[in-house]
Amino acid sequence: MGRVFNFSAGPAMLPEEVLKTAAAEMLDYNGSGMSVMEMSHRSATFKGIIETAEQDIRDLMSIPDNYRVLFLQGGATQQFAAIPMNLMRNKVADYIVSGNWSKKAFKEAKLYGTANLVASSEDENFTRVPDFDSAAFSPDADYVYICQNETVYGTRYTHLPETGDIPLVSDVSSMFLSEPVDVSKYGLIYGGVQKNVGPAGVVIVIVRDDLIREDVLPFTPTIMRYKTQADAGSLSNTPPAYGIYVCGLVFKWLKEQGGLEAMQKRNQEKAALLYDYLDQSKLFSGTAQKEFRSLMNVPFVTGDADLDAKFIAEAKARGLESLKGHRSVGGMRASIYNAMPREGVEALVAFMEEFEKNNA
Ligand code: PMP
Repeated sequence: MGRVFNFSAGPAMLPEEVLKTAAAEMLDYNGSGMSVMEMSHRSATFKGIIETAEQDIRDLMSIPDNYRVLFLQGGATQQFAAIPMNLMRNKVADYIVSGNWSKKAFKEAKLYGTANLVASSEDENFTRVPDFDSAAFSPDADYVYICQNETVYGTRYTHLPETGDIPLVSDVSSMFLSEPVDVSKYGLIYGGVQKNVGPAGVVIVIVRDDLIREDVLPFTPTIMRYKTQADAGSLSNTPPAYGIYVCGLVFKWLKEQGGLEAMQKRNQEKAALLYDYLDQSKLFSGTAQKEFRSLMNVPFVTGDADLDAKFIAEAKARGLESLKGHRSVGGMRASIYNAMPREGVEALVAFMEEFEKNNA
């Protein structure tokens, strides 16, 4: 079998052109006589790679000059701790919980200070983003935290909370670089790259200058202080060098595709193919409330666990891979990130139509 359409929530598909470039450069990167995997992170060649990667993501996201871009390790989960450690000066933060990832971040923050739950949609099984009222934010909050696209439940924010002078912190792991964003609306945006941007092992943190400070919680490990990494250009210790290189290739690919406006259009079209089918299907139904549907993660069910299992197995035999839903939701989930071609979604919808006919 050749390459499959991989609907995994992450690690996920990467653009084939990027994989081919990485393969071609595997043994000898740009005349260096070595792979990027083998290269000193202090070499001029690697310095060129990380600086170009940073410039390219700055161009793609129009990142203002007063924000720093950090290429870090520890996954998005480590940021659940790093964010309160670095940002909690009054030791107060407000969390909106719209799914299991924001719930985990909220739980972690409680270890370091007062984390307030200002809104939650858990009582609606996280099928939507909860209503939130800006007046409910604590006046002394160090930040307001959201997860802008909840990967498991397939929901996304339709508008951002108005936080005034309180910095807004957003986990964009499962929607990174899938559409344009106004970085200036946030104090900090971050995401693990293994869904939309690159191989697992890199987390990118985009943080406003004034939030990179010395007066972090005193027990914050040196390596987890944003100041340590910002001062060192993400090279305080050995960075995830190969992963950063592949992210850089993806940034170039995104630029060639026309940037984030073009990706948004393509992603909207792909998601519409799937949602339009789900909305008229008599067998399958989407689990997220319509208004809050994610463009990236599409959970759906038949309502019969045995039939779901049959669907997943038959889909796999057709080269439609990793459609099993997260264990907390069950059913199916199709993750259709930037690198999933339209043909992949078309093949999925065609198979769903066929399966529906055969299992009516
Ligand atoms: N946040 C979101 C929205 C996620 O989808 C995930 C991973 N699926 C995480 C955080 C945790 O990421 P990591 O495994 O890189 O720690």
